[in-house]
Amino acid sequence: MAVKYQRVLLKVSGEALAGAKGTGFDEATIASICAGIKAAHDLGVQIGIVVGGGNFWRGRSSGKMDRMDADKIGMLATVMNAIAVKDALRQQGVPAVVMTSAAMPQVADTFRSDKAIAELEAGRIVVFGGGTGNPIFSTDTASALRALEIGADAMLKATMVDGVYDKDPHKYPDAVKYDTLTFTHVLDERLAVMDSTAATLCRDNGLPILVFDLGDPSNIARAVQGENVGTLVSE
Ligand code: UDP
Repeated sequence: MAVKYQRVLLKVSGEALAGAKGTGFDEATIASICAGIKAAHDLGVQIGIVVGGGNFWRGRSSGKMDRMDADKIGMLATVMNAIAVKDALRQQGVPAVVMTSAAMPQVADTFRSDKAIAELEAGRIVVFGGGTGNPIFSTDTASALRALEIGADAMLKATMVDGVYDKDPHKYPDAVKYDTLTFTHVLDERLAVMDSTAATLCRDNGLPILVFDLGDPSNIARAVQGENVGTLVSE
C-alpha cells in the first residue's frame, strides 16, 4: 500500500516513555513504541521524532525555581529521552541519530535543518532533543518548528487518547470524538490538542496534525498510510 506521508514528524511525549511506571523511562514501553516506529520506517517513510521531557521534569510545575533554570532542566530531560529512543531504535536494527537544539558535541550532533534532511534522505531516523532550545516554549512547539524545518508532510502527535473530543472523555461518557477538525476550531474552542503556539504555527504554515493513540504503536504505520486512526487537524 502506498504511504500518504513520505516524511513525518512524530511527537512522543515524555510521559509515553514512562509506561505504567509514570516517571523516568520504562525500557519495555520504549521498545514497543520503537517497534511501531520501525514498522512505519520499514514502509519507506522518513521519520523525525521530537521527544518531550514530562516523564522527568516540566519547567512550569517547578515551584520556586527560576523559570528559566527550570526550563533548562526540562530541555535536558528531553535530551535524555532522545538518547533512550535512539538507542532503543538501534537495538531493533533501525539506524537513528540524535540532534540537539543546543550544542553538546560530546553527546550528539547539533541540529541544523539541512543536516537533518540529509540524514532522513539517507534512511536514518532523526531524534530531536532539547526542544526549541529556548525556555518558555514546549516540545509541542518544537515539534511544529522541526516539522516545518525538515519539510514534513504532517505532524503525528502520539498521545494517550485516541483522538480529539468535544469534552473530556474520561469525565463525560457522551463525549464525541472528531474525525477531522480545523485549526481555527481547535484555537477558538481551546480544545486540548496542543498548546496554542504550536497550533498557530501549524495553521499559519499549512501543516496538518494527526492526533492518535500511542497505546497501540501499530497506529504509527496506519497513520502514515492514511488510515483514520485518530483526529486529523488541518485548515
Ligand atoms: N522545554 C523548554 N523549551 C522547549 C521545550 C521544552 O523549556 O522548547 C522544557 C519545559 O520546561 C518543558 C520541559 O522542557 O516543561 C519538557 O517538555 P514538555 O513539557 O513539552 O514535555 P512533554 O509534556 O511532551 O513530555
